[in-house]
Amino acid sequence: MELIILGSSAAIPVQERNLPATALKYKNELIIFDCGEDIQRGLINAGLKFNKPLKILISHFHGDHIIGLPGLLFRFGLIDRTAPLFVFGPPNLFLYLFLHRKILGLKAPYPLKIFEIHHNQNKLIEFEGLDSDQALSESSLKNNIIYEDDRYYLKYTLVDHSVLTYGYAFIEKPRKGKFNPDRARELGIPESRIWTKLHEGQIIEFQGKKIDPLKEGIVGPKRQGRKITYSGDTAPCNDLVKLGENSDILIHEATFSQNLTDIAIEKKHSTSIDAAIIAKKMNAKQLILTHISSRYQEDATQLLKEAKEIFPNSILAKDLLRIEIK
Ligand SMILES: [Zn+2]
Ligand SMILES: [Zn+2]
Repeated sequence: MELIILGSSAAIPVQERNLPATALKYKNELIIFDCGEDIQRGLINAGLKFNKPLKILISHFHGDHIIGLPGLLFRFGLIDRTAPLFVFGPPNLFLYLFLHRKILGLKAPYPLKIFEIHHNQNKLIEFEGLDSDQALSESSLKNNIIYEDDRYYLKYTLVDHSVLTYGYAFIEKPRKGKFNPDRARELGIPESRIWTKLHEGQIIEFQGKKIDPLKEGIVGPKRQGRKITYSGDTAPCNDLVKLGENSDILIHEATFSQNLTDIAIEKKHSTSIDAAIIAKKMNAKQLILTHISSRYQEDATQLLKEAKEIFPNSILAKDLLRIEIK
C-alpha cells in the first residue's frame, strides 16, 4: 500500500506543485482524493496506470479540486478503459459530469458509477454511466460509510470550509494473521481447503480433534487494518478528528503559516499549526501537510517547522512524494 502525492498546491499551480490530488495504491486498485487540473500528467509521472479499478473522492466544488476530473474521464474514453470507476462527492457531482456529456460529448464506455453524498438528508444517491440523468438508486447512510467491501470501508465527514466540503477516510478491515504452513504440516494437516479455513482463524475438526489455529500457532493474530484520512479544505474541525482517530496517515491541508492565521480563519482554511494540532488530537501516526499556498513556492520550510514543534512526525508534501504504508 502506497500513498503518492500528485498535486500539493492550493488554488493555483506553481512550478513545483500541481493542484490537489493524492493517490492511494491499494493492491490492484487506486483511490484518488481530489482531482486537480493536471492530474493526468501527475498519474503519468508517478507511473500509475489508467486502466485500474479506481475510486475518486471529491472533497468539494472549488475549481482547484475538481477541474481535472472531466479531463481524466475523457482520457479514459480514449484508452478503451475496461476497469470500473466509482466517483464520490457532494450533491451536483452527477450534473457537473452530465453537462460535459451534453456540451462536450463526454462518454463513459466503461463501468462508471457516480455517488452523490447528500449530507443533510443522510442519503447516498447513485447514478450509472452518463447516458441517463435518472438516479439508479438512493440509500440511507449508516455511520457515514459510503463504500464497503470485504477489504475496506470508505467513510466521509462534513468539514468546515466556505462551501459544502467533505473529508474522507480509507479504513482497511483487520487482515488475516500470518500463516505458518510448517506448523500445519507438523500437526499432520495436509495442504488442502482446510488450510484456507485455518488461515481465516476458523476452529476446525480434524481426525476427531478440535484444532484452534491461533492456539496451535498455525496462524498469527489478526493484523490491524490501516487507515488513511484526507481533510479536504477545512478550518480545524473536530468531526475530522473523530473520523480519523488513530490514522496511520493524516493528509491535512496547511494552506498558510502561523503569521497568516487571520486569513486562514477568514477563508476557512488551516495553518500548519492547526493541522498539527488536529493530527495530535486524532492520535495519527504521521501527518502530511499539503494544499500549500503559492506564496510559499520558494520556500515552505517554515510551515513544516511550525508543525513539527507540535507534531514531530510531520512531512511537507511535494509532488510525486511516495510513502509506503506497512
Ligand atoms: Zn483548495
Ligand atoms: Zn476550497
